[in-house]
Amino acid sequence: MDELERDLLDLAAIGGAGESGGVTRVAWSEGLLAAYAWLARQGAAIGVDPAIDTAGNAFLRWPAGDGPALLIGSHLDTVPHGGRFDGALGVLSGLDVIRTLRRDGFAPRCPVWLTAFMDEEGTRFGTALFGSRAFAGADLSGLAERRDAAGVTLREAMQARGFDFDAIPAAAQLDRVRGYLELHIEQGPVLEHSGDDVGIVTSIVGLVGLHVRLEGQANHAGTTPMTLRRDALAGGARAVLELRELARRTAGVTANVGVISVEPGGKNVVPGACELTVDIRSADPGVYGTLDATARGLLERIAREEALELTVSELYRLEPVPLDTTIIDAFERAAELEGATARRMPSGAGHDAQILAPHVPAGMLFVPSRGGISHNPAEYTTPGQCAIGSRVLARAVTLLAGA
Ligand SMILES: [Zn+2]
Repeated sequence: MDELERDLLDLAAIGGAGESGGVTRVAWSEGLLAAYAWLARQGAAIGVDPAIDTAGNAFLRWPAGDGPALLIGSHLDTVPHGGRFDGALGVLSGLDVIRTLRRDGFAPRCPVWLTAFMDEEGTRFGTALFGSRAFAGADLSGLAERRDAAGVTLREAMQARGFDFDAIPAAAQLDRVRGYLELHIEQGPVLEHSGDDVGIVTSIVGLVGLHVRLEGQANHAGTTPMTLRRDALAGGARAVLELRELARRTAGVTANVGVISVEPGGKNVVPGACELTVDIRSADPGVYGTLDATARGLLERIAREEALELTVSELYRLEPVPLDTTIIDAFERAAELEGATARRMPSGAGHDAQILAPHVPAGMLFVPSRGGISHNPAEYTTPGQCAIGSRVLARAVTLLAGA
């Protein structure tokens, strides 16, 4: 068993609930802080200094060379009953890279840092990408009173671990970084299908979330003639299928209706209102720019044809983020040098890299996910696949931080 594989197993035992229960290390939990302490011990063992900033981001800092640091990172928090690779593999492969390069006597021309960003998942407080946003200097002051399911506020949760919510702005340290590299499991099936060792991410998907309400007329299911009905669910059903068609005929676009409800909800009542959520995504800025208007146009046409009143409100919106071409090229060269097969691909999921990318050159490397499964105890990447990813990452560090 190699060191990276052993580290993955050791870390999974922290917050691990056994084979079937997966790993649970939610933001600001005892388990997550125990994982930080474990990481600090690994850092100390290879001679790099551990630190935790005011936003709960854990660091190992290799104080080499001069100027801003090359930062390798991901996250150690998980969703409840998550897998042992999401986030963890990015941090542990970074640890593996630093350990290997130091052992090999590599002398970087700048500091090399490793970070585990706090609360990437956002499950507990609805505060995804918290640590990377704090690191990038985003204003998070409005989040203090967010509550978890038990009624604990974020401010209280931080306090319980010895952190002061009002001190978060001191974590803004992006000016000390020259670039960011993140290795992550793909969380999708593309690499497993193509058989490639690594994916080099070209851009991180942009998404628009909409809440849609269609109103018709609730009425007697038996006495109202079919031609006179204003059936809101019929409109909703058409929306589901037409959005799917829209996504199928546009490369790289996904569309999802994940929540739907009907009023008043009676077996013998024509549905008077239908509410649904729409999530549409594209990593291509040009395509992304048209998605919102296209989806709204489609909904308006359906409402008109079905004689329904339409109300659409925006739930969320995130622009697609292109990643740095110099780092993309470095990953490609690194893969070649390591004899790894690589393909360029977009990321359909959000990652800390998207927060840093608008400010510093950032790149992401994917390794395959078995069955494309993630956020699940069945999440799996073979030790061999992890090792190849780590080697490509190490090689990219030597290309970007070499003399
Ligand atoms: Zn992740």
